[in-house]
Amino acid sequence: MKIINLNKTLGIIGAGQLGKMIGLAAANLGIKVCFYDPDPNAPAKSISNFFYNEKYTNKKKISEFSKKCDFVTYEFENIPVNSLKVLEKKNKVYPNINALKISQDRYLEKSFISNLGIKTANFQKIINHSSIEKFLKKNQGKGIIKTRRLGYDGKGQYKARLENFKKIKLDLKSNSYIIEKLIPFNKEISVIAVREQNGLVKTFEPSENYHKEGILRKTTFPSSLPENYIIKAKKIAKSIIKKLSIVGILAVEMFVLEDGQILVNEIAPRPHNSGHWTLDGCNISQFEALVRIIFGIPIPKMTYVKQCKMINLLGDNYQDYKKYLTKKNHKVYIYGKSKLKKTRKMGHVNITN
Ligand code: ATP
Ligand code: MG
Repeated sequence: MKIINLNKTLGIIGAGQLGKMIGLAAANLGIKVCFYDPDPNAPAKSISNFFYNEKYTNKKKISEFSKKCDFVTYEFENIPVNSLKVLEKKNKVYPNINALKISQDRYLEKSFISNLGIKTANFQKIINHSSIEKFLKKNQGKGIIKTRRLGYDGKGQYKARLENFKKIKLDLKSNSYIIEKLIPFNKEISVIAVREQNGLVKTFEPSENYHKEGILRKTTFPSSLPENYIIKAKKIAKSIIKKLSIVGILAVEMFVLEDGQILVNEIAPRPHNSGHWTLDGCNISQFEALVRIIFGIPIPKMTYVKQCKMINLLGDNYQDYKKYLTKKNHKVYIYGKSKLKKTRKMGHVNITN
């Protein structure tokens, strides 16, 4: 019998909780992990075989790091694409850099999606205050201004109303922004799609997301969507991952409207917080699926528990982990971050039945 040679090393750019969970999935398959992160106290350092503590802009170090690795992946979108160009030539980075480039700029991202004929919230680039005013007038007077780059967990976002948008402090000289229509959605869901090296696409079942002040607090599987919506949502995620020619993973966040329309909010070519439930709710987690795909290991048919609820542990509810530790069907994950902050993701708990 042929044994898959797993005496290999996976490079992971970013050693936060997502990198850590990718790394643990790799380690479980006998793969070594090499992290690259500018933070000397990054959570995944503790599980690394090799750790590069360098800036993302240091191309020389990125190149050195990549020589240590058979393949490279990343845990977040905000890596300077230029630093990774050297790697792509050797066909080492999964998901591909073009997908990363599109997803790290909200304007490119929304333009790409709507050019596929998939709906998004109305959006527009902001050039000056009068462009905001015009947009708001056309969109019932309510919008959200977002920085094109570097936003996460609701950071870099401002609710704009026709009557008060002038008070919002925007740095139009050094920052680029978009404005989106405020969508009165009924539900928020996400679908995580994976595409194998042979082009085969699969998705995890959609999960339903609950945000507070722009930050994900809870995800539930199964979603409360009717079957025809589930089919539609999966189809959207499949078509985007194919169009981006991704080998790897893509998380697609969506809004479901009262009238049944599904709009895509965001995409991320990496494991996603709204997919943490797959660690305990599915026979294969989003992290293991990514690692398997990178190393050419087949993905089994996904099978699920009846229900799984993921609760994020942020600074403000972190202490709850103590009560979860001893509860039936509760699995606690602590990321090991050095400082506790109110809106910082410190861990999560998966509750199954
Ligand atoms: P994350 O990193 O958590 O995915 P983010 O900072 O990249 O978030 P978004 O996903 O765009 O930002 O927005 C965060 C949340 O804010 C959304 O999940 C949604 O609840 C709300 N939101 C964003 N855009 C809109 C919109 N156009 N209409 C209504 N709500 C919105
Ligand atoms: Mg989002």
